[in-house]
Amino acid sequence: MVLNLNLFFSDNKFVGSYNDIMDLPTSNIWECCFAGRSNVGKSSIINAITKNKYLANTSKTPGRTQNLNVYQIKEKINVIDLPGYGYAKVSKVYREQLSDLIDSYIKIRKNLKIIYLLIDCKVGLKNSDIDILDVINDSNKKFTVIITKIDKCSPSFINKQIDSVRSFMKNYEKNFTNMYSSSSLKNKGIVDIQKNIYNLSK
Ligand code: GDP
Repeated sequence: MVLNLNLFFSDNKFVGSYNDIMDLPTSNIWECCFAGRSNVGKSSIINAITKNKYLANTSKTPGRTQNLNVYQIKEKINVIDLPGYGYAKVSKVYREQLSDLIDSYIKIRKNLKIIYLLIDCKVGLKNSDIDILDVINDSNKKFTVIITKIDKCSPSFINKQIDSVRSFMKNYEKNFTNMYSSSSLKNKGIVDIQKNIYNLSK
């Protein structure tokens, strides 16, 4: 199963980078997206899932960090890398532009099946995560939480963080579907996320 999954995910390509949702290619296949604060490990996890060390580096290309970067797996599912939010050292106008783009994407995109919301294990939930949870809730989309970089924390801290995030998700139980913990560095939890995305493509 693992081998087949890797084969499925290794058929990946970069479709494009968009800063206006009206420019996004229309699509009749399901789509999932990765959301989270900047530095949460979004690019690393997309690379780990696709077994492509460089795929999500396209989102780090100057001019693309504030864009929606679109990847496609086996022409069966779109994976969207949303711009990282919550970076303190940017202007208010820039922050507002980013959240407008993210919010309108989540609200409008019809084929968006699931949002993977990444939370850094060490950092936990921040206000900017709660802002996006409220957008998800208002748009009535489903989301799954992925706790990232668990290799940086002790097992007891990981459990504490998982309990604390899970308990907060009671506020969003209508849309909350599941929770994973992962380490892209140690390849932990990646297969579970692959299975989840693979199931969406069927
Ligand atoms: P993004 O800004 O959300 O795309 O985050 P990146 O994927 O670029 O990762 C941000 C930083 O965290 C980089 O220095 C990565 O090497 C590091 N990082 C990402 N995932 C992991 C992980 O699973 N474990 C550890 N220890 N570091 C990670």
